[in-house]
Amino acid sequence: MYVWAVDVSFIINHLGEERYKYYGAVTPPLIRSSNFSFNTVDELRQAFASEKNVYLYTRGNNPTTEILRKKLAALAGADDALVFSSGVAAIAAAIMSHVKAGDHIVCVQKPYSWTERLLRDYLPRFGVTTTFVDGTNTDNYVKASTSATKVWMLESPNTFTFELQDIEALTTLAKERNIVTVADNSYCTSLGQRCIEMGVDIEVHSASKYYGGHSDMVAGVLLAGRETVKKIFETEWMNLGAILSPDEAWMMLRSLRTLPLRLQRIQQTTEEVVRFLENHPLVEKVFYPFSNSHPQYQLARKQMKWCGGLFSALLRLETTEKVEEFCNHLRAFLMAVSWGGHESLVLPACSFFPRGQLSDDRYPYNLVRFYIGLEDASYLIGDLQNAFDQDKAKNVSQL
Ligand SMILES: *Cc1c(COP(=O)(O)O)cnc(C)c1O
Repeated sequence: MYVWAVDVSFIINHLGEERYKYYGAVTPPLIRSSNFSFNTVDELRQAFASEKNVYLYTRGNNPTTEILRKKLAALAGADDALVFSSGVAAIAAAIMSHVKAGDHIVCVQKPYSWTERLLRDYLPRFGVTTTFVDGTNTDNYVKASTSATKVWMLESPNTFTFELQDIEALTTLAKERNIVTVADNSYCTSLGQRCIEMGVDIEVHSASKYYGGHSDMVAGVLLAGRETVKKIFETEWMNLGAILSPDEAWMMLRSLRTLPLRLQRIQQTTEEVVRFLENHPLVEKVFYPFSNSHPQYQLARKQMKWCGGLFSALLRLETTEKVEEFCNHLRAFLMAVSWGGHESLVLPACSFFPRGQLSDDRYPYNLVRFYIGLEDASYLIGDLQNAFDQDKAKNVSQL
């Protein structure tokens, strides 16, 4: 089990909190104010001159949000952070800040669905095109790149089939070519995978997952060097305006207090559940980067310090109906998208296509994604066992 560095405790409990300014309060203040006032014309003039560094209006800076930004940047080992109203907003800002008409992007195949939509459907309207490649082979990024390529988009692992990209190898090759790397690190969090230290230029997250951690907010994080954050602050941040509200920034500060605790617990439980499934006769295969049956197990162990609660399994059930029955029988697992909260989830791939169809262009009918939350392992395993047994009981009664 990975043990976080000591400074993680300092960051989540103290960094950025100037308690002497607010009565020694242990919890940071929630400053909802949209607007900030000045005593003299000259103070106001100076504020206009450097909005990046002052509190003028909350679409720029806000004191509550700023505490959160400092903690998130420190957790990632990045100079600075911006927090957005969704992960998708952070991803769009990271990518759009580095392309113009005529530019080209290379992206890993099967990224998060709305990353794919942005690159495949939206950006071509502005003359920006994307090639999607199998990222398990680093060479594919190089081969797909041209002199117009400005951004390499990574997502390692992706969140349904868990394919990895070799992050250090790709950032080294990108730097030689003056290409900016953007990595979606939602699966591992900054604690679980050190993207910035591995040379990634812009690390992005859906904070709706582990950083929020309680399925009660939608939020995004962008982490980068000082100059890059300044550039994005002055363009996509201020212009598109997809900021996180101070209320949600405050909620995320609260969630960060328990982030390491939640991550440790989730990994422990997930390993137990994965072991149960791998040994179950009705499971053909489990896709989990820290399982030694994962085709990129060595790379996973090399570049990931922590493996999350999200994995998928191919069930040995002959029909879509049986897969549906198995999922319908689960009680401890809620049937839903997303992940990263306290509650365990199940998401069957067969829900993406019409009933009875055996696959779509990417997933077979018997692939089921699971997310492991904060419940006891025995409670979850008992529920899975029960759902498998229901199927067995039915088979017997049919004989
Ligand atoms: C959920 C998710 C996103 C999108 O984040 P939102 O906060 O829902 O906008 C992006 N990438 C990955 C890997 C995700 O799981």
